[in-house]
Amino acid sequence: MLRKDILYRFLPLLSQHRPLAHAADELGTTPEIVKAWVRRFREWLLVLDSTGDFERRVRLGLKAPRPLMDCPHCLKQVEARPHGFKRTRKRTAAELKRRMFRCTGCNGFFDVSIDAL
Ligand SMILES: [Zn+2]
Repeated sequence: MLRKDILYRFLPLLSQHRPLAHAADELGTTPEIVKAWVRRFREWLLVLDSTGDFERRVRLGLKAPRPLMDCPHCLKQVEARPHGFKRTRKRTAAELKRRMFRCTGCNGFFDVSIDAL
């Protein structure tokens, strides 16, 4: 496969919070090459948009995307997708101090005190 063909498949992965190794498998290349591309794209994005808004959206290769947790719905230990912070109509996220997660098994939502994390 030509590098420019890999590039078109690489671009949609940039914003996804996944390990470099997953992207490398998908693209048929090595994690080192994916890492170098991510670094290069971060540099380019900062040149193109000096506010850094676009560069901050690059998630590929960031560490610890999904902790393993016990899901209260399906009662299994699952990879939990972080889903922001819990808030209610009367209480703000800062007052509740609870992190929301979504189970990758049953798609159920649950929240955990940030002190327990
Ligand atoms: Zn579950």
